[in-house]
Amino acid sequence: MNGFGDPLSEIVRGIRSGNRRMLAKMITLVESALPEHQAKAQEILDELLPFTGNVVRLGISGVPGVGKSTFIESLGMLLIQQGKRVAVLAVDPSSTRSGGSILADKTRMEKLSVEPNAFIRPSPSGGTLGGVARKTRETMLICEAAGFDVIIVETVGVGQSEVAVASMVDFFLVLMLAGAGDEIQGIKKGILEMADAIAINKADGDNLERADLARKDYQNALRLLMPSSAVWQPSVLTCSAIEMKGIDTIWETVLDHRAKMMASGLLMQNRKKQAVAWLWSLIEEGLKERFHRHPLVQESLKACLAEVESGKTTPAAAATRLLDLLDRSR
Ligand code: GDP
Repeated sequence: MNGFGDPLSEIVRGIRSGNRRMLAKMITLVESALPEHQAKAQEILDELLPFTGNVVRLGISGVPGVGKSTFIESLGMLLIQQGKRVAVLAVDPSSTRSGGSILADKTRMEKLSVEPNAFIRPSPSGGTLGGVARKTRETMLICEAAGFDVIIVETVGVGQSEVAVASMVDFFLVLMLAGAGDEIQGIKKGILEMADAIAINKADGDNLERADLARKDYQNALRLLMPSSAVWQPSVLTCSAIEMKGIDTIWETVLDHRAKMMASGLLMQNRKKQAVAWLWSLIEEGLKERFHRHPLVQESLKACLAEVESGKTTPAAAATRLLDLLDRSR
């Protein structure tokens, strides 16, 4: 028996009591493509929702090789020493591989992966970014209901995955390297808008001075580029993930941000906004799926595309015709 036949209440109870087998089972349910699994997962998620939210949701991004897994291992161990429970998840739609590394890979977080208070789950594989992000969001909620205190979501510093992760976390940390080309030119405004902090990693050995210079450059760039907020000014820090230096300061920054966001009411406001944006993206995705699945659309789509290509009809007219089919059934 695969266990998915367990009564709902038993699964909910199991997850809430921190039963790892149940937790893993539930995540498999969320990741399943089968409609009956999806339906059951949604039902259980609704039951779990009241027990979520009391966590720190931390997103971590950076190019492959910047030291994400080393950093997460160091931060994770620090948090565990403080008596916290830590879950590490990932969003990577590119077949879960980026530059040869698998995000949230247990073998790359050797110490953390054997800790009973840590839970590491690699990115769900396959599918669109939207699909992968949805599964990770739901897995995050399950981990929250299971009593984890900190949820770390890892992603790669390229493209839309960062946007997806930034829109599911409370704090978005971007890891960078010193001397990787011209510092300032390398920063994209989009990243700065998302980052709550930038950490220059590998600030150790010969690299220490360069890392500090890079920190100052980034700090200046941030001041120039970013509008000032009364509540939070993104900070630029240095750290050595491998030597576990500066990791505590970064964690204190996360907590400081949290305290300020909570006091101003922005934390909850931000989460509400994220939930509504998520709702809309699910609706848009669902509509698209319904469109492509509709038998009349399937019948006419090819001909409509050909008519637009050959200039027989305008894209607008063809779109209206196809969309009108949604209101019709055979
Ligand atoms: P990821 O691809 O971003 O997850 O990066 P990894 O954590 O796998 O690290 C890539 C390489 O950089 C590995 O060889 C690490 O040992 C090394 N590395 C990571 N953090 C540091 C650091 O703080 N200092 C130094 N010197 N090397 C580091």
